Amino acid sequence: MRPIQMVDTRSQYQKIKNEVDKAVLDVMDSSAFINGPSVKEFAKNLEAYLGVKHVIPCANGTDALQIALMALDLQPGDEVITPSFTYIATTEVVALLRLKPVFVEVDRNTFCLDVVDLEKKITSKTKAIVPVHLYGQAANMEAIMAIAEKYNLFVVEDNAQAIGAEFTFSDGAIRKTGTIGHIGCTSFYPSKNLGAFGDGGAICTNDSELATKMQMIANHGQSKRYYHDVVGCNSRLDSIQAAILNIKLAHLDEYNNARQEVAAYYDKAFGSSEKLAVPAKADFASHVYHQYTLILNDVDRDGLVSFLAEKKIPAMIYYPVAGHQQKMFAQFNIGEQHLPVTDWLTERVVSLPVHSEMDNEQLEYITSAVLEFVKR
Ligand SMILES: *Cc1c(COP(=O)(O)O)cnc(C)c1O
Repeated sequence: MRPIQMVDTRSQYQKIKNEVDKAVLDVMDSSAFINGPSVKEFAKNLEAYLGVKHVIPCANGTDALQIALMALDLQPGDEVITPSFTYIATTEVVALLRLKPVFVEVDRNTFCLDVVDLEKKITSKTKAIVPVHLYGQAANMEAIMAIAEKYNLFVVEDNAQAIGAEFTFSDGAIRKTGTIGHIGCTSFYPSKNLGAFGDGGAICTNDSELATKMQMIANHGQSKRYYHDVVGCNSRLDSIQAAILNIKLAHLDEYNNARQEVAAYYDKAFGSSEKLAVPAKADFASHVYHQYTLILNDVDRDGLVSFLAEKKIPAMIYYPVAGHQQKMFAQFNIGEQHLPVTDWLTERVVSLPVHSEMDNEQLEYITSAVLEFVKR
């Protein structure tokens, strides 16, 4: 059996090696390392894929979120509502910009922002909501957009884990995640569903004014060379990464389908176990399984992880410490936070390997091992 990994970027690369190697060598030959033609081409291709007017490539997903928030003209102390149950980047950028993170509860089944708690967290200082499509499944964007409209708030989607996923509105309209809010942000970190061979990220929007502004912010606040109108930063996707992403984008649906097949295998194997809750699927969303995350019911999680490790099966806890428990936010006087579902989840979730390069032999081995442990 091939070794089992959380992600297998090497095997994925081997299948498209000739194409990728040629594209990389072409960039090296041209020496257009920064803002070469591949960057523009990738932005165009991603716009077409997502069905969005503007894609602004940048250095990584964290920068994408930061640039998005910088474009909204928020004032220090303005409140930004985000889930606590997410990767730290989502909330860290809020704090970095001296905005106040306000943590919202997540739904215990879908792991995404709880829209009932969202409305409760809105105050006169709330300016924006950052929903996260956690593990690859969309948050309830229709409800979130309705609340945002009611209170006149910006919505910045953290789409780092869900590129390619779709959301179905009640009128039947289907949109890709990351294109529904005012701004969507994504990451091309190598292990993401669309992974570069290094860092990368992108911002998308249908709002041309915001697009121009974010383009400027990502480029030292300049619209014309050496004329800097706003305070910006330096955040670029390099040409080599763009050339690789251009090739991989054509395979993204195939990669996501392969992840869905792995998830279906796990669902079938674990579905009848009382000890394991398989990831719930919301009827409004497709799921692209950036992670396959189980909720354990009365199972020794550390015991399971070490049992699997002995069998050379990796398993990860995303995330063991939620945002509201992180020391970095103490300075914001967030006070005592009551997020029982988030706390409950951080103690019970476990993520199993899911990627485009898994075979049935590996899946059979993993599922047997998990079931062996939970049945003891
Ligand atoms: C990966 C990730 C990010 C950050 O992306 P980087 O490219 O690593 O900066 C932000 N939010 C979420 C939910 C992520 O999973």
